[in-house]
Amino acid sequence: MENKMCCESVHNDYGVSFHACQRKAVVERGGRGYCKIHDPVYKKDKYEAKVKQWEIEGEQRNARWKLENSAPYLLSALKAMYAHFGTLEDNHLMNRDCVNACKLAREAIAMSENKGDK
Ligand SMILES: [Zn+2]
Repeated sequence: MENKMCCESVHNDYGVSFHACQRKAVVERGGRGYCKIHDPVYKKDKYEAKVKQWEIEGEQRNARWKLENSAPYLLSALKAMYAHFGTLEDNHLMNRDCVNACKLAREAIAMSENKGDK
């Protein structure tokens, strides 16, 4: 491996002409030497990591999108339920768990209607 150069061809800034990579080879794959950045295994791993990251970001976008789309319906449902259960709370007909659930519902509704801070 000593003094062996990377076998990869690289193009110039304009992409019109190619020249041999000027870096020293640090690994050998299939009898050919490669520098660290042109190592086919490194490139493959790097690409796979990028694909994995795209998948994660896609899933996160998808989850956000679903939540954004369903939010108005969730809010309507919560308000309808709270309108019903809130009357029971006012009349002290609920147990502690129900009172806590109503408190959470009130807070969630308030949060959704808050225009910014808090
Ligand atoms: Zn190289």
